[in-house]
Amino acid sequence: MAINEQEIQNIVRSVLKGMAAETPAAKPASSGLLGIFKTADEAIAAAKAAQKEIQPMPLEFREKIIANIRKKTLENAKMLSELAVEETGMGNVGHKIIKHQLVAEKTPGTEDLTTIAWSGDRGLTLTEMGPWGVIGAVCPSTNPTATVICNSIGMLAAGNAVVFMPHPSAKNCSNLAIDMVNRASVEVGGPVNIVTAVEEPTMDVSNYIFKHKDIDMLCATGGPGVVTAVLSSGKRAMGAGAGNPPVLVDETANIPKAAEDIVNGCTFDNNLPCIAEKEVVAVDMIADELIYHMEQAGCYHASPEEVQKLVDTVLEEKNGKKIISRKCVGRSAKVILSKIGVTVGDDIRCIIFEGEKNHPLIWTELMMPILGIVRVKNVDEGIAVACELEHGNRHSAHMHSTNVNNLTKFGKAIDTAIFVKNAPSYAALGFGGEGYPTFTICSRTGEGLTSAKSFTKARRCVMGDALCIR
Ligand code: NAD
Repeated sequence: MAINEQEIQNIVRSVLKGMAAETPAAKPASSGLLGIFKTADEAIAAAKAAQKEIQPMPLEFREKIIANIRKKTLENAKMLSELAVEETGMGNVGHKIIKHQLVAEKTPGTEDLTTIAWSGDRGLTLTEMGPWGVIGAVCPSTNPTATVICNSIGMLAAGNAVVFMPHPSAKNCSNLAIDMVNRASVEVGGPVNIVTAVEEPTMDVSNYIFKHKDIDMLCATGGPGVVTAVLSSGKRAMGAGAGNPPVLVDETANIPKAAEDIVNGCTFDNNLPCIAEKEVVAVDMIADELIYHMEQAGCYHASPEEVQKLVDTVLEEKNGKKIISRKCVGRSAKVILSKIGVTVGDDIRCIIFEGEKNHPLIWTELMMPILGIVRVKNVDEGIAVACELEHGNRHSAHMHSTNVNNLTKFGKAIDTAIFVKNAPSYAALGFGGEGYPTFTICSRTGEGLTSAKSFTKARRCVMGDALCIR
């Protein structure tokens, strides 16, 4: 169902009315949404004032605010997910609800901040993880609200306030998530404006914020353009950039399970996650069996003519370059197939085809449930091809194999922040796997899966000749 800007604004207004009734003490800063301002200067000044209250706050009080953010995220997961899908036209509501639940339940809080200590004859020295101050955080359209909430928890746990720069095409749902975080703080007696943003985000506004003297650190979650922009700012910056994760399947894998896992990972939120399987590299000996089981798991095997139609539909020409069509990103397999005149039922979750490694639908990070399959002679050729397809992003890669030597060889060769073995890609985010979630994976700048400690700076705290009681 298409929904226009006016209708989205109306939904936001009616949701706000309900939220305001719950928290009468909350005073709207500008547009009725807490933390949302007309200008970047106002948003930065308000976050700076809030940070002055956060920094001296006992950790226990930060945790109280975070606990309420978690509670409100669970309460609003469905509404935020529906709004994100309606506003951006991308993704799957049920899967976005799972993302919010993951963020609410498993994002690390202040317990993530650890202290290193040295004690001896000359006293006691600690390294404590303290805040940067005000962080400027850029968010993607592909995962707007869960990124705002996950960043809010981690950045606040570390003692920072945040000025968010949401994607313009996801500004309403992102700003609503920012409002929710502020209401969570106000409700338990914390400051307002712990997270802020401008009402009308644009790239010009972001570029102004990048350079502002009161922004102490930058964190960009998005494509290569914005990561390069924050890294060129002259400030400390963290870059969570693009990936194109290959999944390699060798002849020792449990093939029916590999097929099911790959389709589940690839189709999660219609392939929007940067960690999701984007292409398959399969050893010839098992490739046919894998394709058979992928078909059983809900894949539509496209003919060469249909693949050509897909190329013409999901890629667009811009300045002599092929780029992905925003009308197809994050759409379901059924919707994408309907655009090339193929009608399928809801059981079809993914589109597969065989192709060469340089096929545009294999080489390009599509963010759609389309999986090209590259057939290779053996695992060594597979490793080489998969490394090429990852484009040196060092972001994510996956493998299905029971041969530990093959797994080790691929892990070392591809050298990515995430390497999932024998599970769907989302196991990396603690969903069906161990570990905590984040939707800001800083592959380019090396922090990997971010959490509160990523948003701190180290302070050495030294006591001379005392406090060693050994
Ligand atoms: P995008 O790059 O179009 O936009 C991301 C954000 O950057 C938006 O807020 C946008 O307004 C801003 N932006 C873009 N170019 C800018 C510039 N030159 N100056 C200032 N701001 C700029 O990305 P998207 O389509 O919203 O998200 C998808 C991309 O993000 C994919 O490449 C995906 O792999 C990546 N991503 C990475 C992670 C990660 O954790 N590594 C997480 C989510 C998405």
